[in-house]
Order: sequence, then structure tokens, then C-alpha cells
Amino acid sequence: MKRTAIFSILLVSALLQFGQNVNAQDFNTFFKDKTLRIDFHLRGTHDTTQASIAQLKEEKYWGGSVHHTIFPDYGTYRVQLFDAKSKQLIFSKGFNPLFKEWQTTNEAKEMSKIYYHTIQVPYPKAKVTVKIEERNWEGKFQTVLEQNIDPKSYFIINEKPKPYKVVELLKNGEHHSKIDLAILAEGYTAEEMDEFKADAQRMIDYMFTIPPFDRFKNRFNVYAILCESEESGTDVPGKHIYKNTILNSSFYTFDSPRYLTTSDMKAVADVAAVVPYDQVYVLVNSATYGGGGFYNYLNLTSADHALSEKVFVHEFGHGFVGLADEYYTSSTSYNDFYNLKVEPWEPNITTLVNFESKWKNMIDATTPIPTPRNGKYVDQVGVFEGGGYSAKGIYSPVQDCRMKSNEPEGFCPVCQKAIEATIKLLTE
Ligand SMILES: [Zn+2]
Repeated sequence: MKRTAIFSILLVSALLQFGQNVNAQDFNTFFKDKTLRIDFHLRGTHDTTQASIAQLKEEKYWGGSVHHTIFPDYGTYRVQLFDAKSKQLIFSKGFNPLFKEWQTTNEAKEMSKIYYHTIQVPYPKAKVTVKIEERNWEGKFQTVLEQNIDPKSYFIINEKPKPYKVVELLKNGEHHSKIDLAILAEGYTAEEMDEFKADAQRMIDYMFTIPPFDRFKNRFNVYAILCESEESGTDVPGKHIYKNTILNSSFYTFDSPRYLTTSDMKAVADVAAVVPYDQVYVLVNSATYGGGGFYNYLNLTSADHALSEKVFVHEFGHGFVGLADEYYTSSTSYNDFYNLKVEPWEPNITTLVNFESKWKNMIDATTPIPTPRNGKYVDQVGVFEGGGYSAKGIYSPVQDCRMKSNEPEGFCPVCQKAIEATIKLLTE
């Protein structure tokens, strides 16, 4: 009996540790209302990862939720904080670092590379253990970095960010109960700041016409940060174009011409620190088609292509919600991006390994699985083979969605549902 009782106590504490959300009252128990920024390196090859802390920074604002501190296990990585004394899990958040994508490229089979990353967590009141974990090929998290942090250490950098001018494009309330989107100017000179403000406004005006963002516009704040660059534009290495810009963005990421990213996350985070934020969007002063989106990490889009507003929304699907690409025919630089024997974590694709955990309840009983890509099932939710960069073995919810192409008006019902859930999680 006694043994059973002890076992039960252990079981309950394990459940508390791993399953329960730390609520708002607990936020104040464990955290101060500001940010601890953890800068770290990820280094390795296609099948090796080493992580090291680069620096720790204190930032004035915590833009994230104070109602939830333990989030669903989305992302190729996650950061977790454990109270050092009680070992209790007090914060968990998933994200997609650029390094993890690079590991699937051909280059990663031939060389080792290092990437600089930053992640924000709420500022702990007492000593914590931080764990950074990587999802392995089987879909399970494994620890790549474990480090004790004393929040009172004077090695945590506490310097004021450069006071960039901020324009509130949309303000609906205080930042803890809203989703705060920081849009950063990239490749706009001081003379081009009016153009940047107009470009940023145009992006969000469009985004808030797309369901379900239209219905939840009042849950967002949007800030435009007027950080000027020395030169106008961005790097296009394949055309030998190099511009001196504040956030060092570039097309030709992983040698893919339209893949627009930056690996200078230190520059991005230093600029973004002037506002509280949940999401960072780098708006790039270019008319070339392209963008990039990394879950809970970074969004980028060029501003002046005819399809830029649509790309803006597509990339935000990646960055804000963790939606997968539903396309499968375009050439990408990836090898074996998904393990077909594992259910992917992204809500809008499936390998059918555990389809019950996905959108099975949104399908008519008469719709065949898999569903043929033909006229009979246009605009219907089904299970269509092709998605996640693969024509075989990965399935999408509809035949076309904003996560597949720029043709449809917006997102499919499955993506909409996932977006709505993310909005509610961060604002309720
Ligand atoms: Zn979709």
C-alpha cells in the first residue's frame, strides 16, 4: 500500500511537471516581467549538432503570454526552463532554427557550419536550468544544451537597445493579452522610411482581410521599427549583388534563389528589443519574389513584388503557427525533410501514421482516404497525397491552400483552425 502511495505521488508530480500549464499566478512566482535573451551557437554537419551559449542578455519587455508558459510541442527545437531548486518545468516553447533546415541540404553532407541563434524566455526570478532540445529523426526531443543560469549574474548583459523610432500601426491593448508583431525595416535607407511605413501598412491591411486573421484583428498589436540601412535593397549572391543592410538579409539561402532569410539573428534581436514582441517580421526592400518563415523565430518577405502581400501571409503561417508547406513539386534544397514513418508535428500535413491526431474529424465519412486530386473534391477537405516537399507519402488537407500556392484566396479550413488555436492560446 505504502509503495503504491509513493508511486502515486511520484506519478502525480511527474504529471504536474510535464503536463500542466503554469498559470498566470505562477508566472509571477517564477518570472519577472522582462526578457532573458539566450544567444547560442548551433554547429555541426547533416547528422551532428553541438550547441554553446554565446551570451545572455536582459531585455526590458516580455512580449509573450503571462497566462501560459508551457506551449504545445511544435517546432524542430524547443527551449525549456526548469526551476533549479524544485526541478519543476516552468517554461517550454518550440521554435525552428535555420541550422536545422541547413542540416537537410547537400552542403551539410560535405562540411560543418555554425549558426548564431537567439531565443527569448521570460526573466527568471531564481536560478534555472535551461535546456535546448532538438527533434531527432524519430520525432523525439533530445537535449543538445543544458546550462544552469543565475539570473543575478552580472555577466548577463543589460544594455539599452539603440532607440529606433517605432510607429504603432495597430494598437489594441497592453502587450500581455495581445499578439505583438514587430515589423523591422531591412534595406530601407533613412530617406526611404516613409516607403517602409507604407509597405508595412499595406502588408497588415491585406493580412487582416484573410480568415481567420480578419475576425481576430483586435487581438493584435503591430509595430513598425524604423531601423535604417546604409544601402537600399538586399543581397542577391547569384547575381553578385551585395548591399550593406542593417539585418544582413539575403536571397539564395541554401542556394535557392527565392529563399530570403538572414542568419544575423543578433542584429535582428538587438533591433526588435525596442518593443515587446511575440513575432518578428523582417520586411525587405526588394521587388524580387521571395521570403522565409521559421516557427516562433523569424519571418521575412520582400515588399515590392506583385505577390508580396500573399507571401507575407504565407510566411506568417510558418512563423506564427508552425504550418508546413503544402507544396511538393517546386525544387527545394532539402533531402529527406520528413521521416515518413513518423507523424510530423505540423498541424496541416500528415504521413497517416497518426492521422487521428490531425484533421480526421473534419472529413466527410464518404470522402476516400487518400482523396483523389480531381474536380470532384475541389475545395473539399480530404487527404491529398503530396505536401511537405514530397509528392509521395505526405498528405495535405486540400488540393490548394495558401500554404501551397498564391492562387487561393487564403488558408484551407485545417490551417485556419490551427491559426485560430494559436491566436486563442496567446490571448486567452
Ligand atoms: Zn492549408
